[in-house]
Amino acid sequence: MSLRQKIMASIGALFAGLILMVCFWGRPLLQILGLLIALDGLFLHWLWYRCPKCGKHLTWARTWTFCPRCGAWIDYDG
Ligand SMILES: [Zn+2]
Repeated sequence: MSLRQKIMASIGALFAGLILMVCFWGRPLLQILGLLIALDGLFLHWLWYRCPKCGKHLTWARTWTFCPRCGAWIDYDG
């Protein structure tokens, strides 16, 4: 799986979880499930959005082209 696909999957999980929480307002069990899916998305994003060279986490601030730490080019399709 390329980095781009990983980012899309993790953000997809985040939004799917949030949508679930909003759609099932008033149904605590389904909301907890939505929250877990959303947190899972956040966790996966944190886990996957890293520099392939030095492994340093890249922040949400922007879509990085080069690693702010080591300057390596980040290959989103590799
Ligand atoms: Zn780096």
